[in-house]
Amino acid sequence: MKITQTHAIAFFSVIFMLMASISLLAVQKFQYSTTTVLASRTAEVIATTVNQARVSYSADIAQISLHPDITVETLYHGKPLSIPNPATFAIELGEAVSNRDAGIIIHTYSKYPFKNRALTGGPQDKFQQDALAILSTINPVFERIEELGGTPVLRHSEAILMEKSCVDCHNYHPNSPKKDWKIGDIRGAIDVTVPLEGGNDDLAAIVRYSYIIFMAFSVISLLGMFITLKRTHQQSKELDKKVKIRTNILNEMAYTDSLTLIANRRAYEEFCDNIINKKCANSLPLAIIIYDLDHFKQINDQYGHDMGDECLIATVEAVSAILPADNNFHARIGGEEFAIILKHVSNEQLEQTVQRILESVRQVKVLKQPDIKVTCSIGATLATELNETTIKSIVKTADDALYEAKSLGRDQWVSKPYDIHHK
Ligand code: GH3
Ligand code: MG
Ligand code: MG
Repeated sequence: MKITQTHAIAFFSVIFMLMASISLLAVQKFQYSTTTVLASRTAEVIATTVNQARVSYSADIAQISLHPDITVETLYHGKPLSIPNPATFAIELGEAVSNRDAGIIIHTYSKYPFKNRALTGGPQDKFQQDALAILSTINPVFERIEELGGTPVLRHSEAILMEKSCVDCHNYHPNSPKKDWKIGDIRGAIDVTVPLEGGNDDLAAIVRYSYIIFMAFSVISLLGMFITLKRTHQQSKELDKKVKIRTNILNEMAYTDSLTLIANRRAYEEFCDNIINKKCANSLPLAIIIYDLDHFKQINDQYGHDMGDECLIATVEAVSAILPADNNFHARIGGEEFAIILKHVSNEQLEQTVQRILESVRQVKVLKQPDIKVTCSIGATLATELNETTIKSIVKTADDALYEAKSLGRDQWVSKPYDIHHK
């Protein structure tokens, strides 16, 4: 199959579209994973901060000796001498840090909530249940991407471990729902929800605009390449056309006689070679006629070389006019010597043609010099067979006949039968 410029352009366009789609997918994947990593880090920082605040608060309460009038309890609001217990402190801190407008939600929960928090203190959904089932001291973090109100969110759950101060308090508290806690037990978890959309608008916009600019530059470059290719192709086509025209002109010049505008000697020799090479049996019988102007040197001497040229032109026009239009080859093979090759001719047709040539040359008139009289002598032969060497011998036979016509007094013709055994 020939690969054209259209094929190349179609191929490059398909490759480009493929690369554009792959890079778009890669950019989206990069953007998604960057957003997820950022959300995970944010959730981790929030969870760790809330947890650490609870641990510090819990240790502080256990270590400092509180005034006997100060009570540590869940329902401390409105009581001047009450402070929150660590769990309440962590829950309220989480709620205070939560930013529901931005989609950031912090919730602390446990498998064993105190009675007064039975509704909100236990796992609130499937994620929190799964987290409690999976979280352990070895694996204290659990994350999952979920959908919340139609928006993708990252859910991050981090285990709350029992410290010594917590164990001491819980195992002796009258309202504690479980009294066999050990240090390191998982008391519950902090659940941090971070949205995966909206929070990283700047990053998403930078990535999107970079991609659009990159694609725009690529498309412009590709278009530039195609236009250049098309123009180069167009120019090379035009150049090809010009070269063809020039070559045709040069070929024509190489095979045409510049004065009479009929075939020259080179064309005549190639024509003869072709007849041999192609063994033109279908051209038989084949006649070769050679005619030469009589005493042309005298015409040149008497009327000048230019008038001689006019004579040659007028003679060729006169002879061409009487030749069969589609079955002749007429060439100038010397200064004032010409050859005619006729295919499929009988002896009678040959004789008729030769007589007409003699007569038409006698009628040649040169306008500027009406006194000039032109005649020619003709040698002719007819071949009915061809073999490897015959064309040269046919030509030689016609040449011999011309010589004879000259010696017989000129302005006449001699036809010699072609002898196949002639050497
Ligand atoms: P013959 O009858 O024996 O053929 O005599 P001729 O004078 O024609 O023969 P010859 O070979 O002696 O002279 C041929 C002349 O043709 C000589 C040359 O000046 C002239 N001639 C050859 N080519 C051209 C040409 O292109 N233009 C002109 N004007 N004359 C030419
Ligand atoms: Mg002559
Ligand atoms: Mg001559």
